[in-house]
Amino acid sequence: MGRLDNKVAVITGAAQGIGALMAKVMADEGAKVLVTDVQDTAEAVKAITDAGGIAQGMKVDITSNDDLKAMVETATGEMGGLDIMVNNAAIFATLTPKPFFEIDDDEFDQIMRVNVRGLHQVMRAITPTMIKAGGGKVVNIASGTFYYGPPGLSHYTASKGAVLGLTRGHARELGDKNIQINAIAPGLTESEGVAANDGFDMARAPTVASRSIKRDMLPEDLAGSLLFLCTPDSDFITGQTINVDGGKINL
Ligand code: NAD
Repeated sequence: MGRLDNKVAVITGAAQGIGALMAKVMADEGAKVLVTDVQDTAEAVKAITDAGGIAQGMKVDITSNDDLKAMVETATGEMGGLDIMVNNAAIFATLTPKPFFEIDDDEFDQIMRVNVRGLHQVMRAITPTMIKAGGGKVVNIASGTFYYGPPGLSHYTASKGAVLGLTRGHARELGDKNIQINAIAPGLTESEGVAANDGFDMARAPTVASRSIKRDMLPEDLAGSLLFLCTPDSDFITGQTINVDGGKINL
């Protein structure tokens, strides 16, 4: 028996990287997973179905209210519900780190539009369904960058601080609806996108050195905290952030 049997989970930005791994982890525990992304999700879906899990892929841009309406309709229609929402989509691994005074208005706005407003749009789209169903679980993927502000990523760092702000505000507003909303703040994680981006190379060695557990962090390192926040084990926890970073930051 899986820990997420009979649950429907929806995840954004899950064509690759951390999102694809999280989709697989939830499917391995028995959830039916709607794997969404602006990119093609076929490979991530195949990884799940090849292992005997149930998943469906869908193109969803989290800044499009039409796409989000279709996402909710697919989850509640064909898949049978919307019990778990994982807000993973963001602009991250494609970023070129640069000093803040070289970030133009368009790039700044794009980061905020996707990483912050997009999450707001997703939550606005799914909340009526979760309230109607009598509850649900939401996991927002933030970032450890917010705790130490690495150079070159100030707009991204600010956007992930805003994710924590939305997590707290939404949790406060939906606490009495049996909807728990929490965040995970990963440290630098070797997703495909990070591994392929030379811009992150100089951060790798100092990051590993700054951890209590001195090794690279892999997407798999996030599996346990994700499942904790998706199951009844976390039913009296909301508006909180789990910092998964090998012991880099002590909060
Ligand atoms: P990634 O860039 O590979 O994944 C982000 C995914 O979001 C991509 O598949 C992308 O296509 C998708 N996406 C972008 N814009 C979108 C939109 N408008 N609508 C829908 N999908 C969209 O990065 P990753 O390393 O796999 O990171 C995944 C998440 O974890 C992100 O939220 C990132 O900020 C966070 N995070 C990553 C790290 C890390 O070191 N890898 C550390 C902390 C937090």
